[in-house]
Amino acid sequence: MTTTDAKPGNNFIRAIIDEDVRNGVNDGRVATRFPPEPNGYLHIGHVKSICLNFGMARDFGGTCNLRFDDTNPDRENPEYVEAIKEDVRWLGFEWNELRYASDYFENLYRFAEDLIRAGKAYVCDLSNEEMRSYRGTLTEPGRDSPYRERAVEDNLDLFRRMRAGEFEDGSRVLRAKIDMASPNINLRDPTLYRIRRGAVHHQTGDAWPVYPLYDYTHTLSDALEGITHSLCTLEFEDHRPLYDWFLDNLEVPARPRQYEFGRLNLEYTVLSKRRLTQLVEEGHVQGWDDPRMPTIAGIRRRGFPPQALRDFCERVGVTKSDGLVELAMLENSVRESLDLTAPRAMAVLDPLRVVIENYPEDRTEEFEAANHPKDPRMGTRSVPFSRELYIDRGDFVEVPPNRKYKRLALHGEVRLRNAYVVRCDRVIKDGEGRVVELRCSYDPATLGAGPEGRKVKGVIHWVCARRSIGAEMRLYDRLFTVPNPGADKGRDWKADLSPDSLVTVNGLVEPAVAAAAPGSRFQFEREGYFCVDSRDSVPGRPVFNRTITLRDTWQKIVARES
Ligand code: ATP
Ligand code: MG
Repeated sequence: MTTTDAKPGNNFIRAIIDEDVRNGVNDGRVATRFPPEPNGYLHIGHVKSICLNFGMARDFGGTCNLRFDDTNPDRENPEYVEAIKEDVRWLGFEWNELRYASDYFENLYRFAEDLIRAGKAYVCDLSNEEMRSYRGTLTEPGRDSPYRERAVEDNLDLFRRMRAGEFEDGSRVLRAKIDMASPNINLRDPTLYRIRRGAVHHQTGDAWPVYPLYDYTHTLSDALEGITHSLCTLEFEDHRPLYDWFLDNLEVPARPRQYEFGRLNLEYTVLSKRRLTQLVEEGHVQGWDDPRMPTIAGIRRRGFPPQALRDFCERVGVTKSDGLVELAMLENSVRESLDLTAPRAMAVLDPLRVVIENYPEDRTEEFEAANHPKDPRMGTRSVPFSRELYIDRGDFVEVPPNRKYKRLALHGEVRLRNAYVVRCDRVIKDGEGRVVELRCSYDPATLGAGPEGRKVKGVIHWVCARRSIGAEMRLYDRLFTVPNPGADKGRDWKADLSPDSLVTVNGLVEPAVAAAAPGSRFQFEREGYFCVDSRDSVPGRPVFNRTITLRDTWQKIVARES
């Protein structure tokens, strides 16, 4: 076992586990689990829980299971099961065992009979509505159900017949007999089993007409798996007394303990499966893996590296409060990771044609360009150059706005990245006065060398008109216009959806990147980080997703070249 006081990412959970390990609790064993319900795709909030559960197991030489908490046959399906497995692996984690809560249905059923025999559970015939009115409120105690004192034999008989499928949905439930006057509503005789006769479960088919409820299932699954530290989010704090009640009142093979931590909330997005489902079903986005979605599938398709998500979670930390985390924090992690790992390339998003009049018509050159300014191991690629090029329209003005302007202007000079210094001699305009082409000349002595007797500060990117390849560029931006969508009382959160979260343009890329595999990531110099879309990109007609913009791009490149 390792103790990890000095590690980054110290938090109160790590401190608790560390102390348990040192004190030999559970013989020093650490076993965690990540327990999603397969009723939707995982989102970045789940990443926090994944990193915490798998990370603690890793750091303490323990184990972490992936367990599907699948007690709701109506809302779950195998598509989600597969997506969740893929997402966890993509994040870089491997589970010890793959389990389903439904694996334990038989054990859970027997535990329920044990509770009945001990006089600690009863079959209740109140309707849903009646149950609600008997439950009381936060300020008023509940009232005992008229069925609360049913004899053990009657309860056993009725529960067995529930299992045999004799009764209709909603006609009866099994409840724990705890305390209808408890200040904690979770302890007011919570329901353990409900009847769902027609349901077909993705794992157990139609074997079960009764289904155990979440709290009961979750606790006992933890105990049956020998989980030592059951880490969950704060909203379960009030459920902990019930968690402990189950463990106290049943002969369980192990005694897990529950600890709660704050949920991750992130600016400019929503993180609840219910809302994310709405975005998909109402067509606000194009699916669960739409690159604007905060789902792991969307984030992956957008081009975020898994390393960036792990770093982000480390930086966010684990505390006892739910906070709204700045989007900038996530973006910084993404930029840091991509800066190190993404090869550089050139792409033009808003092409403006350039003709270099003193460059021979029939000539092309191939320049070897470094794929990464700081990492020679990433190698070089060949960049074609010819008389006709494209630069970005945003890199040209006829009259410079001020003395600091460093891009190309009429009669001004600029360096074409990886190539020559060119001067703009004249412009060609269309009937409406819009510049459609630049006529330039180049200085042949400036390949890899400064120009003679003058300084050229600006460097711009470009592509060869003859050899570049047309590419669809999907420019993604935040999905919502406000940090906390729908935060104002009475305001519909969907009213805060941004109309500009996706802008599509037709750009041009250098040939070296046009054939890159789906998912490949690049820094298009001065434009941002992009990746090849894994769904829609095809050879000959690549589609790039903008992962994230660059920060201070202009300054950076100038500093590097001069
Ligand atoms: P949602 O509220 O989005 O529907 P959920 O909590 O119902 O999510 P589960 O599938 O039950 O989703 O979640 C699996 C695990 O991930 C749980 O332990 C849950 O506490 C944790 N989790 C879910 N959302 C977050 C979040 N935003 N931050 C941290 N952990 C989370
Ligand atoms: Mg849940």
